[in-house]
Amino acid sequence: MAMTELNLVLLGPPGSGKGTQGERLQEDLRLPYYATGDILRAAVREATELGRAAREHMDRGDLVPDDVIVGVIGERVDSTEAADGFILDGFPRTEPQAEALEGRLSELGRGLTAVLLIDVSDDEAVRRLGGRRTCVENGHVFQVDFNPPERDGVCDVDGSALVVRDDDKPEVVRHRLDQYHDKTEPLVGYYDGHSLLRRIDGAATPDEVAERIRRTLVTLRLEADEAI
Ligand code: AMP
Repeated sequence: MAMTELNLVLLGPPGSGKGTQGERLQEDLRLPYYATGDILRAAVREATELGRAAREHMDRGDLVPDDVIVGVIGERVDSTEAADGFILDGFPRTEPQAEALEGRLSELGRGLTAVLLIDVSDDEAVRRLGGRRTCVENGHVFQVDFNPPERDGVCDVDGSALVVRDDDKPEVVRHRLDQYHDKTEPLVGYYDGHSLLRRIDGAATPDEVAERIRRTLVTLRLEADEAI
């Protein structure tokens, strides 16, 4: 099969750098980027029906119920802008979500190209998230040690205030990591079983991780060409 579409999933614990890498990939590959955490936070800010259904779960660091999120992503992957591919970040996060995605894609005669697992240890994730600051207006992300804003507490991009996300508070971070190990990590085996999984060591600078991802994508293209 020639590689005509690039349908990618970014998998990994909170704090692994999925968002940072997803935004770079979106620019490099010119594909739409769907981050369910961002979509849900926007819905909470705008107090839509979706936001009302998600809010309490998010505040506790729990996952929102599968049926709340599955429809949202189903619509996105079926949109014209995603015809050449897409980058999913934070979805799927459970086996039922993975099965729903697979079902939806196969109805459309499509499938995933690869699942990129960006892996970091729990200690590293806790360290990164503890210093993460997010802008209240648009969700731009900074990190006090590794990627500080020019002025303390102010977003470089739009000048709005930087805050600690409620679910980046230490006790909630631990709970999110537990949820990851419990509900999301089984997807590593699931996608390995479908020969879609590519592992990327996330314990490096954003530039280094981006380079590892780039090399993985080159390899994927070569494999697809050989299989024609
Ligand atoms: P994130 O920004 O990816 O860390 O997501 C923030 C929060 O949104 C998570 O802790 C969950 O409460 C919720 N969330 C995001 N994506 C999903 C998903 N695929 N399934 C269930 N909950 C999700």
